[in-house]
Amino acid sequence: MTQKIIRNSNPYWINEKHDFITSFLKHPRIIHAELSTNNDEYDVVVIGTGLSGVSCVYWLRKLYPVERFPRILLLEKNVHPCSGASGRNGGFICPSYDYLADYVEDFGYENGCQWVEFQHENIRSIAQAVKENNIDCEINLTRGNVALARTQKELENIVKSYEFIKDYLEKHSNTKMSLDNLELWDHEKCQEMLHSDKFIGGLFMRESGTVWVAKLVYGLLKYCLEQPGIDLITNGKVIRIENSKNIILENGRVIIAHHAIVHATNAYSVEYMDFVRDKIIPTRGQCSRSKPIETIFWPFGLSANEGGEYYHQSPIDGRITFGGCRWRSPDTEHNNQNDSEINDLIQEEHERFFSLWHPGIATQNCTVEIEQEWTGIMAFTIDDLPLIGPLPGDNKQFLLCGYNGDGMPNAFLCAKAVARMIANDDPYKEGEEKNTITFLK
Ligand SMILES: Cc1cc2nc3c(=O)[nH]c(=O)nc-3n(C[C@H](O)[C@H](O)[C@H](O)COP(=O)(O)OP(=O)(O)OC[C@H]3O[C@@H](n4cnc5c(N)ncnc54)[C@H](O)[C@@H]3O)c2cc1C
Repeated sequence: MTQKIIRNSNPYWINEKHDFITSFLKHPRIIHAELSTNNDEYDVVVIGTGLSGVSCVYWLRKLYPVERFPRILLLEKNVHPCSGASGRNGGFICPSYDYLADYVEDFGYENGCQWVEFQHENIRSIAQAVKENNIDCEINLTRGNVALARTQKELENIVKSYEFIKDYLEKHSNTKMSLDNLELWDHEKCQEMLHSDKFIGGLFMRESGTVWVAKLVYGLLKYCLEQPGIDLITNGKVIRIENSKNIILENGRVIIAHHAIVHATNAYSVEYMDFVRDKIIPTRGQCSRSKPIETIFWPFGLSANEGGEYYHQSPIDGRITFGGCRWRSPDTEHNNQNDSEINDLIQEEHERFFSLWHPGIATQNCTVEIEQEWTGIMAFTIDDLPLIGPLPGDNKQFLLCGYNGDGMPNAFLCAKAVARMIANDDPYKEGEEKNTITFLK
């Protein structure tokens, strides 16, 4: 019988028991909104300190001289930076090969394939930033992920995705993708690799893996706060924007942004922005983390049910991070922004998942016992595309959100594109990365 220790939503990744959080909160450049007496005028204000917002400031300082944007402010409504989805996710960083068949159906063959290519470049770009800035975030982009099929229909989708990439690579020699990166698994291979005979096939993707996203964001944030002219205000909840310039905080303070405002506020943006209310559906996801496990069952990450469930095991202590099963409570998780509580029905599914789908684990005298569980909010969009770019008719306000639950393979380079838009540069510059996200406009 599983014994739970914690019942409230308590994300493993962002918690004051971790040194990187407590030591960071003492950073002299962090200003508590209530205490600040600082000048309230900035060139650029980025609202939200998840991966999107922090990456945008990172790129503004990386790409442009300080004189271009001397004063930049990051605004966060909570005490801890990165306490939205970037601190509450599953930790997968993986191009969406397994969704490619859907992308092609929705957005066309070239666009779908190019989007996956863009995601590849995105994760390589993150890896480079991690290396350059010496960020300790347990990133591992070679462990791989396998998208698993339980039904014939799921298998057909996976095979279709593989065939699209194969075909695309035959037609395009100048691409950063490679078929060596992909491997189709049959039932036998799944049995051999998974401690389970329940999966009839899978698509293994080599160049993908996992990352402690909050540590990544804090690492990028550390870089930002070491740069001249950058402040971070916490406890600064934005409730309204007036005249594309005045940012009104809940406590009545007004912050003026002379050049640009970036809304990197995920689905929370529906709380204060009319424009996104009919475009973003805040959708709650749930994750759990097990007690340490001695045996490492899978060195790679796994997803099943067309991405509806995803899990990986820490190579350090064997703990399994598991996410998904929203299907168990279909009426409660959409249009839900409450990430402080757990859905018990979904939790029941988390608890029985491994005995159901990986029965081989039990034969090794092992049970997966959940120790910690949490929820987080994702921005699902009505057309399944991220919202990246200026608000229509307003070239001072920019959206940087709406990843439909797939922020890690998209956010870093989307933030780079927005940084370029702020500087009136071509956001989709050829050269450094390909012109792959044009259609996301
Ligand atoms: C349970 C769960 C599991 C997930 N698993 C994965 C995964 O394995 N792989 C993957 O690629 N993606 C995953 N995602 C999605 C991914 O986490 C997100 O796409 C990504 O973190 C979004 O980053 P962001 O910076 O845009 O938003 P966030 O990280 O949510 O950042 C937004 C920030 O804005 C702040 N904010 C909001 N409103 C205001 C306001 N009014 N004033 C001031 N500040 C404000 C918030 O406090 C927050 O810090 C998951 C998401 C969830 C919820």
